[in-house]
Amino acid sequence: MSLVKILEIALRTGRVTRRYPVEEPLLTPEFRGSIEVDPSKCWGCGACTKVCPSNALTLTPSGKGLVLEYFVGRCVFCGMCAEVCPAKAITVTKKFELASKNLRDLRSRVVHEVLRCSVCGAPITAEAEVRAVVKVSPITEEYVALCPRCRKERFTKSVALRIGASSGPS
Ligand code: SF4
Ligand code: SF4
Repeated sequence: MSLVKILEIALRTGRVTRRYPVEEPLLTPEFRGSIEVDPSKCWGCGACTKVCPSNALTLTPSGKGLVLEYFVGRCVFCGMCAEVCPAKAITVTKKFELASKNLRDLRSRVVHEVLRCSVCGAPITAEAEVRAVVKVSPITEEYVALCPRCRKERFTKSVALRIGASSGPS
């Protein structure tokens, strides 16, 4: 295409770009910026960390708790974490002006208390997750505070007792 033709088209079309930051940027409804995790809704289940393609979200033990950390420096703004979050705790915002000279500004954390087994003291999972699961499952309070190993032992013992009782002298 000749230069004259290009100029002709450009003059006919006019300016299509925005003079950001002098003018407001054009953000479409589909635009995805950084995410925000609502600490009051998050269960600490870690589902978001499993789908995050860039490890921007991590769930790691720290002290006596579990920490969900979001590092925006690694985020590729795909929004998959918000799609899988069972607690609807993640919001995809339209924030994109995220640069900072301080690395700490790029990290946000949600700290969860960990539930420990009432028998052996082993860490089970985040307390918030257990509370959420108990609400929707038939699991009894007795089994909630047990780690998988102690739960299995308790269950095996109760089955053995029942079998013993039913096969005993009538
Ligand atoms: S938007 Fe994508 S890259 Fe960013 S934290 Fe969520 S899953 Fe990870
Ligand atoms: S509740 Fe949602 S935000 Fe919290 S750890 Fe699970 S998936 Fe991630």
